[in-house]
Amino acid sequence: MKLSGKTAWITGASSGIGRATARLLAAEGADLVISARREERLQQLADEIGKQGRKVTIATVDVSDRQGMQTVAEMIASLGGVDILINNAGTMPISPIINGRVDEWEQMIDTNIKGVLYAINGVYPGMAERKQGHIVNISSVAARLTYPSAGVYAGTKHAVRAISDTLRKEAIRYGVRVTDIQPGSVDTELPDSIVHEKIRAAVKGNMYGEDMLNLKPEDIANAILYAITQPAHVDVSELLIRPLVQE
Ligand code: NDP
Repeated sequence: MKLSGKTAWITGASSGIGRATARLLAAEGADLVISARREERLQQLADEIGKQGRKVTIATVDVSDRQGMQTVAEMIASLGGVDILINNAGTMPISPIINGRVDEWEQMIDTNIKGVLYAINGVYPGMAERKQGHIVNISSVAARLTYPSAGVYAGTKHAVRAISDTLRKEAIRYGVRVTDIQPGSVDTELPDSIVHEKIRAAVKGNMYGEDMLNLKPEDIANAILYAITQPAHVDVSELLIRPLVQE
């Protein structure tokens, strides 16, 4: 097993990419801290993974809650820290900017940018002190491209990519590696977070339509596993993974 003796914190582990990554990392021997808001989902996952003999700790937290994230970080420090952070929690309530859905913009900024930073802040100093660690941030193909109706979402993901690349350069001296993972369209619950009804229907139509071949969450989990299991001299800075037919 490639991750025996390692501990990973996975945010947004209650569904989609986070859950698939939790399953894969546990199958490779990692102990886990899994976090999200839906405790029941986390408990189900913990029960499943616990049966494989892995140690799983649940943290029910909203990543945009600065104090709550600090509390999780303190809990993690009391366990001895983590070797790997998978900064995955995210939301996508997209709409055209002309609609002025400011609450949804703030939700994306608070979750997708601030949440990522709070998690980094929670574990990076400990990793730097121990001179080893790996931070994986999940941005998106929307960290490179923009799409009508997805301006704020793409803005948050461009920010995650910029933060990842800056952190990568800063963290080299501390022996901490940083990877930015950029998924294309993945078949998950993410479109359910779109509040704008027409846009939600359009995105779901695109994602689940017969013409569109989506990635599976497991495809992204495989990319993450690749990034975090390379020899110490290899830095996988970023990975862009698209379904075959996505332009
Ligand atoms: P899902 O909706 O299936 O999963 C999102 C996860 O994030 C859930 O576990 C959810 O848990 C958690 N989450 C959302 N908001 C919060 C919050 N405020 N606090 C804590 N946890 C939160 O979507 P995906 O698996 O697709 O998304 C995972 C990541 O991948 C996201 O960052 C997304 O932007 C990114 N991505 C997804 C793509 C796709 O096509 N699916 C493409 C490119 C990037 P809970 O609701 O229980 O809190």
